[in-house]
Amino acid sequence: MKQALATVISNEKILGELERPHARAISGSWIIWLRCPEIAAEAKSGQFVMARCGEECTLPRPFSIHRVNDRGDIALFFIVWEDGKGTNWLLQRNQSDSVEIFGPLGNGFSIKPASRNLLLVAGGIGIAPLLFLTDLALNQRYSVTLLYGTENASRYPESLLPPRIRLVSVTEDGAIGEKGRVTDTLPKYADWADQIFACGPTAMYLDMARRKKELGLEGKPVQISLEMRMGCGHGVCYACTVRTKEGLKQVCKDGPVFDLDDIIWDELSLNT
Ligand SMILES: Cc1cc2nc3c(=O)[nH]c(=O)nc-3n(C[C@H](O)[C@H](O)[C@H](O)COP(=O)(O)OP(=O)(O)OC[C@H]3O[C@@H](n4cnc5c(N)ncnc54)[C@H](O)[C@@H]3O)c2cc1C
Repeated sequence: MKQALATVISNEKILGELERPHARAISGSWIIWLRCPEIAAEAKSGQFVMARCGEECTLPRPFSIHRVNDRGDIALFFIVWEDGKGTNWLLQRNQSDSVEIFGPLGNGFSIKPASRNLLLVAGGIGIAPLLFLTDLALNQRYSVTLLYGTENASRYPESLLPPRIRLVSVTEDGAIGEKGRVTDTLPKYADWADQIFACGPTAMYLDMARRKKELGLEGKPVQISLEMRMGCGHGVCYACTVRTKEGLKQVCKDGPVFDLDDIIWDELSLNT
């Protein structure tokens, strides 16, 4: 793990606000590029960094490494909560400002050498760590299919996706692509996949765990990236402890990537 005073290369709003009558309001989504060669050189897809977000935030905030380039920059793709202190601070950073970050943290995704076809399942902001995985996998000549589900047409711009990816769009209101939930498309693609990588809300994982057979996931290696509230990011505070079949694990240190089968979902669903 490295500490860095990263320089902001760019910080752009890419999605507008989202009104959600029954949930926390979102002011928009941004992509911030940060120059931090020490962290970029070590980063693996699925890992995250902790960002110190100004004096009003006592705790640093976790963000997945969204992309890495060969100039030593990392990108974070982040949702700004209308009432979120940390994300509102981050959106106000301008080019040449500094942001204190530390990382890379966590275990990251792992691609088996024998795999050829990788199926990625993104729910909403869950696309954040999966694009780093996509970039790496396509460079290494894997075939990548991305199932990307959102509530409506407010979604990650297709123009920013790597051209060689096979994209299957799903929206709950049917505005773009197939209508429904992203997990509903799994039966069509799971058979093709040697490995499945998913990132999305806990409800998406619960659905995958509970309807494993129906969705075609039985016997498939499925890695999921778990998001839990965390304090320190490196295994000291135990705020992000989760129960697995192998005992208690810390999402920040032992995860955030776990096998779908390892998490005791019923217990997690009671607590989230
Ligand atoms: C491993 C990991 C990777 C993440 N990657 C991304 C990403 O790529 N893009 C993105 O938009 N968001 C990501 N998140 C969620 C992001 O950390 C929160 O949205 C952010 O911390 C909210 O901060 P805030 O001060 O604006 O909101 P507040 O609600 O004011 O934050 C208060 C506290 O809660 C914690 N917190 C709030 N929401 C979450 C959450 N969902 N998960 C974990 N901690 C939370 C914060 O760290 C902080 O300590 C990730 C979370 C984790 C655990």
